[in-house]
Amino acid sequence: MEKLAPGRFLIHPWSEDGDGNYKFHLNVRVINDSGEPESLDLQIEWDDPEYMECRDYVLLGKGEQWEFCQARLSGTISTVQLTIPPGEWFIALHPVYDLESFQKDCQHAVSIGLEDKVIGVSQGGRNIIALSCGMQEAPAIFVVSRLHPYETAGSWCVSEILNLLCDEAHSSGPLVSKFRFVVVPMPNPDGVASGCCKLSQRGGTDLCHEGAAPGDMAGEALARLLTAVKPMAYLDLHGWMYRNHDGLSWSHDTERDALVGKLSGDPVFSKEWRGSSWAKKPDRLGDFFMRASRDHGAISFIVSPSWFGRDVSQMRHFGRAMLKAICEVVDT
Ligand SMILES: [Zn+2]
Repeated sequence: MEKLAPGRFLIHPWSEDGDGNYKFHLNVRVINDSGEPESLDLQIEWDDPEYMECRDYVLLGKGEQWEFCQARLSGTISTVQLTIPPGEWFIALHPVYDLESFQKDCQHAVSIGLEDKVIGVSQGGRNIIALSCGMQEAPAIFVVSRLHPYETAGSWCVSEILNLLCDEAHSSGPLVSKFRFVVVPMPNPDGVASGCCKLSQRGGTDLCHEGAAPGDMAGEALARLLTAVKPMAYLDLHGWMYRNHDGLSWSHDTERDALVGKLSGDPVFSKEWRGSSWAKKPDRLGDFFMRASRDHGAISFIVSPSWFGRDVSQMRHFGRAMLKAICEVVDT
Protein backbone atom coordinates (compact mmCIF):
# COMPACT_ATOMS: atom_id res chain seq x y z
CA MET A 1 0.00 0.00 0.00
CA GLU A 2 1.35 3.44 -0.90
CA LYS A 3 0.18 6.79 0.48
CA LEU A 4 -0.06 9.15 -2.50
CA ALA A 5 -1.40 12.17 -0.60
CA PRO A 6 -3.47 12.81 2.53
CA GLY A 7 -6.60 10.64 2.09
CA ARG A 8 -5.26 9.02 -1.13
CA PHE A 9 -3.77 5.55 -1.29
CA LEU A 10 -2.61 3.09 -3.95
CA ILE A 11 -3.13 -0.60 -3.15
CA HIS A 12 -1.42 -3.51 -4.86
CA PRO A 13 -3.43 -6.69 -4.11
CA TRP A 14 -1.07 -9.57 -3.53
CA SER A 15 -1.20 -12.93 -5.22
CA GLU A 16 1.15 -15.75 -4.34
CA ASP A 17 1.42 -17.17 -7.85
CA GLY A 18 -0.01 -14.45 -10.10
CA ASP A 19 -2.92 -16.58 -11.39
CA GLY A 20 -5.50 -13.93 -12.41
CA ASN A 21 -8.33 -16.44 -12.07
CA TYR A 22 -7.78 -16.40 -8.29
CA LYS A 23 -6.59 -12.82 -7.87
CA PHE A 24 -9.59 -11.29 -6.12
CA HIS A 25 -8.32 -11.02 -2.60
CA LEU A 26 -8.73 -7.50 -1.21
CA ASN A 27 -8.83 -7.13 2.55
CA VAL A 28 -7.87 -3.66 3.77
CA ARG A 29 -8.54 -2.39 7.28
CA VAL A 30 -9.32 1.30 7.54
CA ILE A 31 -9.62 3.23 10.81
CA ASN A 32 -11.19 6.68 11.00
CA ASP A 33 -10.44 8.05 14.47
CA SER A 34 -11.50 11.63 13.72
CA GLY A 35 -15.08 11.38 14.99
CA GLU A 36 -16.43 12.71 11.64
CA PRO A 37 -16.88 10.97 8.25
CA GLU A 38 -13.70 11.28 6.17
CA SER A 39 -13.22 10.89 2.43
CA LEU A 40 -10.79 8.31 1.12
CA ASP A 41 -9.60 7.99 -2.49
CA LEU A 42 -8.32 4.55 -3.43
CA GLN A 43 -6.56 3.30 -6.49
CA ILE A 44 -6.27 -0.47 -6.69
CA GLU A 45 -3.64 -1.79 -9.10
CA TRP A 46 -4.78 -5.34 -9.83
CA ASP A 47 -1.99 -5.98 -12.31
CA ASP A 48 -4.15 -8.44 -14.24
CA PRO A 49 -5.92 -7.42 -17.46
CA GLU A 50 -8.09 -10.50 -17.96
CA TYR A 51 -10.69 -10.22 -15.19
CA MET A 52 -10.91 -6.43 -14.75
CA GLU A 53 -14.62 -6.28 -15.60
CA CYS A 54 -15.28 -8.21 -12.36
CA ARG A 55 -13.36 -5.63 -10.29
CA ASP A 56 -15.40 -2.45 -10.88
CA TYR A 57 -16.53 -2.08 -7.26
CA VAL A 58 -15.44 -2.48 -3.67
CA LEU A 59 -17.43 -3.30 -0.55
CA LEU A 60 -17.06 -1.17 2.58
CA GLY A 61 -18.24 -2.65 5.86
CA LYS A 62 -17.61 -5.31 8.48
CA GLY A 63 -19.23 -8.43 9.85
CA GLU A 64 -22.44 -9.05 7.92
CA GLN A 65 -23.08 -5.45 6.73
CA TRP A 66 -21.38 -4.27 3.54
CA GLU A 67 -22.04 -1.28 1.30
CA PHE A 68 -21.52 -1.58 -2.46
CA CYS A 69 -19.32 1.22 -3.84
CA GLN A 70 -18.94 1.59 -7.60
CA ALA A 71 -15.39 1.99 -8.91
CA ARG A 72 -14.06 3.33 -12.23
CA LEU A 73 -11.85 1.11 -14.34
CA SER A 74 -8.82 2.25 -16.28
CA GLY A 75 -6.56 -0.48 -17.60
CA THR A 76 -5.72 -2.67 -14.64
CA ILE A 77 -6.59 -0.01 -12.04
CA SER A 78 -9.89 0.37 -10.13
CA THR A 79 -10.45 3.84 -8.67
CA VAL A 80 -13.04 4.53 -6.00
CA GLN A 81 -13.98 7.44 -3.74
CA LEU A 82 -15.25 6.38 -0.34
CA THR A 83 -16.69 8.14 2.68
CA ILE A 84 -15.47 6.39 5.79
CA PRO A 85 -17.66 6.75 8.89
CA PRO A 86 -15.89 7.02 12.25
CA GLY A 87 -14.58 3.68 13.49
CA GLU A 88 -12.89 0.59 12.09
CA TRP A 89 -13.98 -0.86 8.73
CA PHE A 90 -12.83 -3.15 5.99
CA ILE A 91 -12.58 -2.63 2.26
CA ALA A 92 -12.98 -5.85 0.29
CA LEU A 93 -14.31 -7.42 -2.90
CA HIS A 94 -15.92 -10.23 -0.92
CA PRO A 95 -17.29 -9.91 2.64
CA VAL A 96 -14.44 -10.77 4.98
CA TYR A 97 -14.56 -14.03 6.92
CA ASP A 98 -11.29 -14.60 8.74
CA LEU A 99 -9.86 -17.01 11.30
CA GLU A 100 -11.46 -15.02 14.11
CA SER A 101 -14.88 -15.37 12.45
CA PHE A 102 -14.29 -19.11 12.23
CA GLN A 103 -13.25 -19.33 15.87
CA LYS A 104 -16.52 -17.64 16.91
CA ASP A 105 -18.63 -19.95 14.71
CA CYS A 106 -16.76 -22.96 16.01
CA GLN A 107 -17.24 -21.98 19.67
CA HIS A 108 -20.95 -21.34 19.07
CA ALA A 109 -21.41 -24.71 17.33
CA VAL A 110 -19.65 -26.56 20.15
CA SER A 111 -21.71 -24.71 22.78
CA ILE A 112 -24.89 -25.97 21.09
CA GLY A 113 -23.71 -29.55 20.95
CA LEU A 114 -21.62 -30.23 17.83
CA GLU A 115 -18.50 -32.29 18.51
CA ASP A 116 -15.17 -30.72 17.64
CA LYS A 117 -11.98 -32.61 16.95
CA VAL A 118 -8.50 -31.50 15.98
CA ILE A 119 -7.72 -33.72 12.99
CA GLY A 120 -4.19 -32.44 12.43
CA VAL A 121 -2.08 -29.34 12.10
CA SER A 122 -1.12 -27.29 9.08
CA GLN A 123 2.43 -26.72 7.88
CA GLY A 124 2.28 -23.45 9.82
CA GLY A 125 1.25 -25.21 13.06
CA ARG A 126 -2.42 -24.20 13.03
CA ASN A 127 -5.04 -26.71 14.15
CA ILE A 128 -7.36 -28.21 11.52
CA ILE A 129 -10.75 -28.72 13.13
CA ALA A 130 -13.64 -30.98 12.15
CA LEU A 131 -17.14 -30.46 13.57
CA SER A 132 -19.63 -33.28 13.52
CA CYS A 133 -23.06 -34.39 14.62
CA GLY A 134 -25.48 -37.25 14.03
CA MET A 135 -25.24 -40.96 14.71
CA GLN A 136 -21.85 -42.59 14.26
CA GLU A 137 -23.18 -45.41 12.03
CA ALA A 138 -25.45 -43.25 9.83
CA PRO A 139 -24.49 -42.49 6.21
CA ALA A 140 -22.13 -39.53 6.31
CA ILE A 141 -22.26 -36.21 4.52
CA PHE A 142 -18.87 -34.52 4.35
CA VAL A 143 -18.69 -30.73 3.94
CA VAL A 144 -15.55 -28.72 3.35
CA SER A 145 -15.01 -25.07 2.42
CA ARG A 146 -12.29 -22.50 1.93
CA LEU A 147 -9.72 -24.85 0.42
CA HIS A 148 -8.97 -21.77 -1.69
CA PRO A 149 -8.30 -19.07 0.88
CA TYR A 150 -9.79 -15.98 -0.81
CA GLU A 151 -13.17 -17.64 -1.41
CA THR A 152 -15.17 -16.32 1.55
CA ALA A 153 -18.51 -17.29 -0.06
CA GLY A 154 -17.82 -20.88 0.99
CA SER A 155 -17.17 -19.80 4.57
CA TRP A 156 -20.43 -17.84 4.88
CA CYS A 157 -22.32 -20.82 3.42
CA VAL A 158 -20.70 -23.14 5.96
CA SER A 159 -21.29 -20.68 8.80
CA GLU A 160 -25.00 -21.10 8.09
CA ILE A 161 -24.67 -24.86 7.56
CA LEU A 162 -23.30 -24.99 11.11
CA ASN A 163 -26.35 -23.00 12.27
CA LEU A 164 -28.58 -25.53 10.51
CA LEU A 165 -26.74 -28.42 12.16
CA CYS A 166 -26.98 -26.67 15.55
CA ASP A 167 -30.76 -26.39 15.07
CA GLU A 168 -30.87 -30.05 14.09
CA ALA A 169 -28.66 -31.24 16.94
CA HIS A 170 -30.57 -29.13 19.48
CA SER A 171 -33.99 -30.44 18.45
CA SER A 172 -33.02 -33.94 17.18
CA GLY A 173 -34.21 -32.80 13.76
CA PRO A 174 -34.92 -34.96 10.71
CA LEU A 175 -31.48 -34.55 9.14
CA VAL A 176 -29.45 -35.71 12.15
CA SER A 177 -31.80 -38.64 12.59
CA LYS A 178 -30.83 -39.91 9.13
CA PHE A 179 -27.26 -38.72 8.49
CA ARG A 180 -23.96 -38.08 10.17
CA PHE A 181 -22.44 -34.71 9.23
CA VAL A 182 -18.73 -34.03 9.24
CA VAL A 183 -17.72 -30.44 8.45
CA VAL A 184 -14.21 -29.06 7.97
CA PRO A 185 -14.83 -25.33 7.56
CA MET A 186 -11.24 -24.06 7.59
CA PRO A 187 -8.81 -26.65 6.21
CA ASN A 188 -6.39 -24.01 4.86
CA PRO A 189 -5.79 -21.68 7.84
CA ASP A 190 -2.25 -20.87 6.71
CA GLY A 191 -3.50 -19.59 3.36
CA VAL A 192 -6.24 -17.52 5.03
CA ALA A 193 -3.83 -16.11 7.64
CA SER A 194 -1.26 -15.10 5.04
CA GLY A 195 -3.78 -13.58 2.60
CA CYS A 196 -3.18 -16.12 -0.16
CA CYS A 197 -5.59 -16.41 -3.08
CA LYS A 198 -5.20 -20.08 -4.05
CA LEU A 199 -2.40 -21.87 -2.21
CA SER A 200 -1.50 -22.65 1.40
CA GLN A 201 1.46 -20.25 1.27
CA ARG A 202 3.81 -18.77 -1.31
CA GLY A 203 5.14 -21.81 -3.18
CA GLY A 204 2.69 -23.99 -1.21
CA THR A 205 -0.08 -26.43 -2.12
CA ASP A 206 -3.38 -25.97 -3.97
CA LEU A 207 -5.18 -28.03 -1.32
CA CYS A 208 -8.29 -28.58 -3.46
CA HIS A 209 -6.49 -30.17 -6.37
CA GLU A 210 -3.19 -31.37 -4.85
CA GLY A 211 -3.79 -31.70 -1.12
CA ALA A 212 -5.05 -35.29 -1.09
CA ALA A 213 -1.59 -36.45 -2.18
CA PRO A 214 1.12 -36.69 0.47
CA GLY A 215 3.23 -33.60 1.08
CA ASP A 216 1.10 -31.01 2.88
CA MET A 217 0.18 -31.65 6.51
CA ALA A 218 -3.26 -29.98 6.29
CA GLY A 219 -4.06 -31.94 3.12
CA GLU A 220 -2.90 -35.18 4.72
CA ALA A 221 -5.13 -34.55 7.76
CA LEU A 222 -8.15 -33.93 5.53
CA ALA A 223 -7.37 -37.02 3.42
CA ARG A 224 -7.11 -39.19 6.56
CA LEU A 225 -10.47 -37.89 7.79
CA LEU A 226 -12.13 -38.47 4.42
CA THR A 227 -10.88 -42.07 4.39
CA ALA A 228 -12.10 -42.63 7.95
CA VAL A 229 -15.55 -41.11 7.28
CA LYS A 230 -16.15 -42.77 3.85
CA PRO A 231 -18.95 -40.31 3.05
CA MET A 232 -21.97 -41.08 0.89
CA ALA A 233 -22.06 -37.41 -0.18
CA TYR A 234 -19.33 -34.77 -0.45
CA LEU A 235 -19.90 -31.03 -0.71
CA ASP A 236 -16.92 -28.74 -1.33
CA LEU A 237 -17.91 -25.05 -1.16
CA HIS A 238 -15.83 -22.48 -2.99
CA GLY A 239 -16.62 -19.03 -4.38
CA TRP A 240 -15.72 -17.14 -7.50
CA MET A 241 -15.81 -13.78 -9.18
CA TYR A 242 -18.11 -14.41 -12.13
CA ARG A 243 -21.23 -12.26 -11.92
CA ASN A 244 -24.10 -14.08 -13.47
CA HIS A 245 -23.17 -17.72 -12.94
CA ASP A 246 -22.71 -20.04 -9.99
CA GLY A 247 -20.23 -22.86 -10.38
CA LEU A 248 -21.21 -26.52 -10.09
CA SER A 249 -19.14 -29.62 -10.74
CA TRP A 250 -20.61 -33.03 -10.06
CA SER A 251 -19.89 -36.74 -10.08
CA HIS A 252 -23.36 -38.23 -10.70
CA ASP A 253 -25.64 -36.83 -13.45
CA THR A 254 -28.97 -37.99 -11.98
CA GLU A 255 -28.27 -36.43 -8.59
CA ARG A 256 -26.99 -33.24 -10.22
CA ASP A 257 -30.24 -32.86 -12.15
CA ALA A 258 -32.29 -33.57 -9.02
CA LEU A 259 -30.29 -31.00 -7.02
CA VAL A 260 -30.66 -28.27 -9.62
CA GLY A 261 -34.39 -29.06 -9.87
CA LYS A 262 -34.88 -28.74 -6.11
CA LEU A 263 -33.13 -25.36 -6.00
CA SER A 264 -34.86 -23.86 -9.02
CA GLY A 265 -37.61 -21.43 -8.11
CA ASP A 266 -35.69 -20.15 -5.07
CA PRO A 267 -34.76 -16.54 -5.95
CA VAL A 268 -31.31 -16.89 -4.36
CA PHE A 269 -30.58 -19.58 -6.97
CA SER A 270 -31.66 -17.56 -9.99
CA LYS A 271 -28.17 -17.43 -11.54
CA GLU A 272 -27.32 -19.90 -14.26
CA TRP A 273 -25.13 -22.85 -13.28
CA ARG A 274 -21.78 -23.19 -15.01
CA GLY A 275 -19.63 -26.28 -14.68
CA SER A 276 -19.29 -29.85 -15.79
CA SER A 277 -19.41 -33.49 -14.84
CA TRP A 278 -16.11 -34.72 -13.49
CA ALA A 279 -17.06 -38.34 -14.02
CA LYS A 280 -15.00 -38.65 -17.19
CA LYS A 281 -12.07 -36.46 -16.17
CA PRO A 282 -8.73 -38.20 -15.74
CA ASP A 283 -7.95 -39.11 -12.16
CA ARG A 284 -5.66 -36.76 -10.27
CA LEU A 285 -3.94 -38.22 -7.25
CA GLY A 286 -4.15 -35.11 -5.08
CA ASP A 287 -7.69 -33.98 -5.95
CA PHE A 288 -10.16 -34.23 -3.06
CA PHE A 289 -13.22 -34.37 -5.32
CA MET A 290 -11.70 -37.33 -7.20
CA ARG A 291 -10.74 -38.97 -3.91
CA ALA A 292 -14.26 -38.60 -2.52
CA SER A 293 -16.13 -39.71 -5.63
CA ARG A 294 -13.80 -42.45 -6.95
CA ASP A 295 -12.21 -43.95 -3.84
CA HIS A 296 -15.28 -43.66 -1.63
CA GLY A 297 -18.11 -43.61 -4.20
CA ALA A 298 -19.52 -40.39 -2.72
CA ILE A 299 -22.08 -38.36 -4.63
CA SER A 300 -19.87 -35.30 -4.93
CA PHE A 301 -20.38 -31.65 -5.70
CA ILE A 302 -18.09 -28.65 -5.91
CA VAL A 303 -20.23 -25.53 -5.56
CA SER A 304 -18.86 -22.02 -6.24
CA PRO A 305 -21.37 -19.29 -5.40
CA SER A 306 -20.90 -15.89 -6.98
CA TRP A 307 -20.92 -12.93 -4.57
CA PHE A 308 -22.03 -10.34 -7.08
CA GLY A 309 -25.55 -9.04 -6.25
CA ARG A 310 -25.76 -11.09 -3.05
CA ASP A 311 -25.35 -10.01 0.55
CA VAL A 312 -24.23 -12.10 3.51
CA SER A 313 -27.74 -13.15 4.48
CA GLN A 314 -28.40 -14.40 0.95
CA MET A 315 -25.10 -16.28 0.98
CA ARG A 316 -26.09 -17.84 4.30
CA HIS A 317 -29.38 -18.92 2.75
CA PHE A 318 -27.44 -20.37 -0.21
CA GLY A 319 -25.46 -22.66 2.12
CA ARG A 320 -28.44 -23.79 4.19
CA ALA A 321 -30.62 -24.49 1.15
CA MET A 322 -27.77 -26.28 -0.63
CA LEU A 323 -27.13 -28.74 2.21
CA LYS A 324 -30.84 -29.41 2.71
CA ALA A 325 -31.29 -30.07 -1.02
CA ILE A 326 -28.31 -32.44 -1.10
CA CYS A 327 -29.75 -34.34 1.86
CA GLU A 328 -33.04 -34.72 0.01
CA VAL A 329 -31.27 -35.84 -3.17
CA VAL A 330 -29.20 -38.56 -1.48
CA ASP A 331 -32.00 -39.69 0.85
CA THR A 332 -33.24 -42.64 -1.17
ZN1 LIG B 1 -11.94 -22.45 -5.40
